[in-house]
Amino acid sequence: PTFSALGLIDPLLTALDALGYKTPTPVQAQAIPAILQGRDLMAAAQTGTGKTAGFALPLLQRLALDETPVAANSVRALVLAPTRELAEQVHASFRAYGAHLPLRTYAIYGGVSINPQMMKLRRGIDIVVATPGRLLDLHRQNAIRFNQVQTLVLDEADRMLDLGFSRELDAVFAALPKRRQTLLFSATFSDAIRKMAGLILHQPVTIDA
Ligand code: AMP
Repeated sequence: PTFSALGLIDPLLTALDALGYKTPTPVQAQAIPAILQGRDLMAAAQTGTGKTAGFALPLLQRLALDETPVAANSVRALVLAPTRELAEQVHASFRAYGAHLPLRTYAIYGGVSINPQMMKLRRGIDIVVATPGRLLDLHRQNAIRFNQVQTLVLDEADRMLDLGFSRELDAVFAALPKRRQTLLFSATFSDAIRKMAGLILHQPVTIDA
């Protein structure tokens, strides 16, 4: 297929054209239509399969078409990543793909001072890419509100569990609206990942790339 045939809007197609992406990867061809339809997703996908664009493109589109403005200290889509490096990388991808859309994206992680992050969150952010620990710190301090979250993405879920983020993830799940779209990406599917998927995914489309 082409990106256009998958139903992506012109501002995204323009960005993809500028980046030189010609055809969707297999994970993108499967994930993009399902996510655009609002389905939950469980995807077995390694780095290098194009998984980031697989969730970032349809997520950007859903946010762009739903013109509900983001409230102060709120966020409309939340992407959780295991490390600062991955959070920065995913954030950069959202910026590149969303270059022609009026959406605000921000990456938050630990190991740097929290105050600039609190300031930045004040006017609301459409897409926050975060590591779990710092996200929860900010939530406990009321710097970020979850009531407007419509989509949650777990990127490299297996690595998040390997790094010991299980309790933080449970705390985030408990604080999010029950009615939301959830997308789980993982290179491997251990019993722990399957159990988590069973708890947070609602009739997911499954993808094996
Ligand atoms: P990822 O698996 O998300 O880490 O992406 C792997 C690399 O493939 C990144 O450098 C992307 O910029 C690139 N990429 C993703 N999708 C496509 C595509 N459809 N065509 C060409 N390059 C792509």
